[in-house]
Amino acid sequence: MTATVIDGKAFAAKVRGMVGEHVATLKADHGITPGLAVVLVGEDPASQVYVKSKGKMTVEVGMKSVEHRMDADVSEADLLAMIDTLNNDPTIHGILVQLPLPDHLNSDLVINSIDPAKDVDGFHISNVGLLGTGQKAMVPCTPLGSLMMLRDHHGSLSGMNAVVIGRSNIVGKPMAQLLLGDSCTVTIAHSRTKDLAAVVRQADIVVAAVGRAEMVPGDWIKPGATVIDVGINRLDAPEKGEGKTKLVGDVDYASCAAVAGAITPVPGGVGPMTIACLLANTLTACCRANDLAEPTGLTA
Ligand code: NAD
Repeated sequence: MTATVIDGKAFAAKVRGMVGEHVATLKADHGITPGLAVVLVGEDPASQVYVKSKGKMTVEVGMKSVEHRMDADVSEADLLAMIDTLNNDPTIHGILVQLPLPDHLNSDLVINSIDPAKDVDGFHISNVGLLGTGQKAMVPCTPLGSLMMLRDHHGSLSGMNAVVIGRSNIVGKPMAQLLLGDSCTVTIAHSRTKDLAAVVRQADIVVAAVGRAEMVPGDWIKPGATVIDVGINRLDAPEKGEGKTKLVGDVDYASCAAVAGAITPVPGGVGPMTIACLLANTLTACCRANDLAEPTGLTA
């Protein structure tokens, strides 16, 4: 079998298109423009690239984009004061503090100081609790994007066996909650799981969120299963020239694609969906803040 490639780039463009249409309607019918504020502390080059691309896409869908850059040695009090200002700004519907934060800042404290209704990353403890209890939450963007692709491919996920490899708060745990919410039978595997290969072979859906290049080989995959590869790993690629690198996922793409029914590539799979879902979450937050109907197909 050769797997169907789930094109995350195209799907993300479709999601951004849906967000853009809804934003245009909000503006025309209600005079409301959703606003997203991104707070970046320090000069981490990868974070700067992410923030730039988030800002660009926010503007492209017609939203207001605000960026606050703070020095790497900013005090916790000053950062919390900035978040407080944004919490109280009615033109801002989504607040994202770019992680990781420098070591002297308490990330949990900072994230939990964001108004949960504006927590478009879905990391606030209230949103984690709401998601875990099946209530209306702001849902973390990467798992939400993965769920959207799964729903789009399968329709109903009810009764499917899903194995999530990785138990991080950002990806693994919320992914498992979302799959449970869609009535999958969910197993969360992690670094201490015994006989991971046997666990993964049971899965109709495999979500790999580990951060280890190409660790899942094709012979772990049940024939016909759907593989969602969340991992982003940079490897040296001397075959492309001296000093060149390439991005690979957590699954060995070639051998998994030969067995799976469907698979997301890296790059061009889950990655583009993450920013698209950030925009979708900002729109959702704006609709909720204004007691307006939420967009359909863009939430969990
Ligand atoms: P993390 O380091 O916080 O968590 C990794 C998890 O993998 C841990 O729970 C750990 O128990 C598990 N693990 C480690 N070694 C293992 C092993 N040998 N067998 C089984 N499980 C093992 O990472 P994260 O933040 O969840 O990110 C995971 C990957 O997803 C990374 O490559 C990251 O870059 C990528 N990521 C991508 C996006 C995106 O937009 N596509 C977003 C977030 C993270």
